[in-house]
Amino acid sequence: MDTVNRLESEVRSYCRAWPTTFTTARGSWLTDEAGTRYLDLFAGAGALNYGHNDPDIKAALLDYLSTDTIVHGLDMSTTAKRSFLETFEQVILRPRGMDHRVMFPGPTGTNAVEAALKLARKVTGRTNVVCFTNAFHGMTLGSLAVTGDSMKRGGANVPLSHTHRMPFDDYFRTGVDTIDYLEAYLDDAGSGVALPAAVILETVQGEGGLRVASDAWLQRLSALCREHGILLIVDDIQAGCGRTGTFFSFEPSGIVPDIITLSKSLSGLGLPFAVTLMRPELDVWEPGEHNGTFRGFNPAFVTATAALERWRDGAFASEVRRKAELVTTGLQGLADRMPAGEARVVGRGFMQGVELDTPGLATAVAREAFARQVLVETAGADDQVVKLLPPLTISEAELAHAFAVLSDALDAARSQHEVTPDAAPALLSA
Ligand SMILES: *Cc1c(COP(=O)(O)O)cnc(C)c1O
Repeated sequence: MDTVNRLESEVRSYCRAWPTTFTTARGSWLTDEAGTRYLDLFAGAGALNYGHNDPDIKAALLDYLSTDTIVHGLDMSTTAKRSFLETFEQVILRPRGMDHRVMFPGPTGTNAVEAALKLARKVTGRTNVVCFTNAFHGMTLGSLAVTGDSMKRGGANVPLSHTHRMPFDDYFRTGVDTIDYLEAYLDDAGSGVALPAAVILETVQGEGGLRVASDAWLQRLSALCREHGILLIVDDIQAGCGRTGTFFSFEPSGIVPDIITLSKSLSGLGLPFAVTLMRPELDVWEPGEHNGTFRGFNPAFVTATAALERWRDGAFASEVRRKAELVTTGLQGLADRMPAGEARVVGRGFMQGVELDTPGLATAVAREAFARQVLVETAGADDQVVKLLPPLTISEAELAHAFAVLSDALDAARSQHEVTPDAAPALLSA
């Protein structure tokens, strides 16, 4: 830890929240240098949907690397790339009636988002993109411009422009349909909102507090986009790859976005890998117009192909949906420990959490969970949500253990919270 703290930039973050040095990991567990085991309810921020070192996925990689196969190949054709594309078409696209083209941008999520935004602007010849409150799309300037969080945006120090921010589904929590608002802006020549190139959204806002777009809201948004010739981009980097119980998060709503971004769990093993999917008629790129050295990292093609085997039939997905109900029940149990109206379960599928209204309480719960060897993160603009993002492969026994620890952590956090300086003003005014 000392070397890390001395040498690594102040920008480091998770090593501060979880101050120990990890050595190995398997399934839902990490082990540190002292041999202490931690239950992982964060799964690499959703990059480890199949857990750590899944044996089948890892075996495919080790097998691939055992001969002098192509590791780096720019975007040349390789057998690994061909197998990935064939499998992705067979297992994911065709069964869903999708004919999207697959683009390999740089290997991280924000690269996929940048490519999506650039393509939408190029196709339509328009500048602005509509994005939503509490959205998170990545740290490079284009992605940051459509991200909501003011701390993250503040790091840019240049104008983050060419966007229009609109209220996400149920933003006001009063039942107002926020699509009415967007529709009125688009229809009113005096609104000051120019016709946008695209609308970009997450169906479940991963970093922004696990707010969920309802199916009806998504359907109205999709219809509105179609009516106005606006491209619909779903950023499925966190909510996709099975996290909500279907491969793509938007499947239950029946909408089919024009452009889709995937990354995080796409490689299955935690290797960097991203794709931007587009309807074929949108594929107007010139060859090499959007380039990059690490587009199509062959080891990631191999692990992603192995991971897609989970999706050949519906068994894995239905297992995820069944266990997601246990997550809901467990979280409701946590919410029930709080005074009425001060906590609620938010999110969907394997992307749920409990929102705690007491300022600082969710952060304190995460800290107390770490003290009990459970890794859990917070989400939301005020870190108000204890966010569960376990591996989709977590067992029922592990989930039961997680909720036992989390309820202790909540009780401990609450008893401490009453004496922290943060809580003092509230106590004085009471
Ligand atoms: C994590 C994330 C990104 C950014 O991905 P990086 O690999 O960190 O660049 C973009 N969009 C969503 C929804 C994410 O969760």
